[in-house]
Amino acid sequence: MNIGEKRELVCINCPMGCMLTATMTENGLSVTGNTCPRGEKYANEELTHPTRTLTTTLRVENREGKYVPVKTNGPISKEKLFEAMKVLSDVKVTAPVKTGDVVFPSLLGEADVIATGTVD
Ligand code: SF4
Repeated sequence: MNIGEKRELVCINCPMGCMLTATMTENGLSVTGNTCPRGEKYANEELTHPTRTLTTTLRVENREGKYVPVKTNGPISKEKLFEAMKVLSDVKVTAPVKTGDVVFPSLLGEADVIATGTVD
């Protein structure tokens, strides 16, 4: 962002969904509209290195028609989400699998994929 440039965004850290205005100044990003400090942190991260926790489901290969819900155990770069979903589209899990199991380690070198459900 250039000095004087403004961006408006919605903080997604809690259900209040504060409308944030981020303005680039000579001293860095100035954020208004946040009700708590997490909003300022979110705006800074979103405008410099946006990340997301990926959630999806994976097919269970030895249980016909079954899927297990999964998520990354940490945020990954927003720009890598599409590539990450492409990688996971070919991944199958073998039952039994339980909540917390690592079903795909080091997805694109950013985070492990863990089960958030159980299939016996
Ligand atoms: S700024 Fe704070 S109160 Fe507002 S949405 Fe973000 S986390 Fe929630």
